[in-house]
Amino acid sequence: MTSLSAILPRISAALLPSRCANPNCQQTSLLARARNLGNGIRLYDRHFCSPDCLEQHLRETLRELTAVPARGEGKSPNRMPLGLTLLSRGSLTREQLQIALQQHRESGVRLGDVVLTLGFVTERQMTSALAMQCGYPVYPLAAENPDSLPVSIPIRLLESNSMLPVRFAEEGSRLFLGFACGIQYGVLEAVGRMLSCDPVPCVIAMSEYRERMQALVSLKLDTELIFDGLNAPGEIARIIRSYSIRLGAQEVRIERCREYLWARIKGRQQLDLLFRLVQS
Ligand SMILES: [Zn+2]
Repeated sequence: MTSLSAILPRISAALLPSRCANPNCQQTSLLARARNLGNGIRLYDRHFCSPDCLEQHLRETLRELTAVPARGEGKSPNRMPLGLTLLSRGSLTREQLQIALQQHRESGVRLGDVVLTLGFVTERQMTSALAMQCGYPVYPLAAENPDSLPVSIPIRLLESNSMLPVRFAEEGSRLFLGFACGIQYGVLEAVGRMLSCDPVPCVIAMSEYRERMQALVSLKLDTELIFDGLNAPGEIARIIRSYSIRLGAQEVRIERCREYLWARIKGRQQLDLLFRLVQS
């Protein structure tokens, strides 16, 4: 017959939250864990007993996340540079490409934006070149109703990546993300992890993107906060902790999207914190 002392730990393990993922946690006794019941915060598959333990862990995570330089478009296998794609399609002449590349290098503005601004290529040429370059189809935005999307991505991230969610397929949780200015693969992956979905890239026309963005910006709700030029992991961790307490957070997620660190806090309401990291 099983003794009571053997059963008790199993009962408590089933009733109490999982052990805190902070190795330095002071609240490890059964009593402390019982007291913290309901105060825990999840960070992906980790559980933290309190905002304090989350903050301690975040300082480490953030040190790694902020150390990564803001990547450009990220890795895409066998991708021909946009300039060469436009050249090979006859949309751009060699002289035009040289002018555009020089402007791109001097200003830091994306090559796609430069050639469009200079009027070297039409939007249609650009959209189909982008689609050919990445091997993903052009998605006509007009066909979809943006209000029906069950996902939310901060407007600041949509703007800084010329990106829009265009369709969500329940089956396989596939989120179609349209890019008007080249696919940002790193951001695509980050969105997938943040929203627990399978992100599928596609190409959208710049004018359709701008039109849709205008409508979105006018609807802008107070669900995102932007912090500029805060780089210290300790400071960012403190801010996330303080909003976690304020919102009674049950879950926090953090992703790096090029120059932004995106933290999503889910509690009594959902709030996105965006930290724009300054490159040293
Ligand atoms: Zn703890």
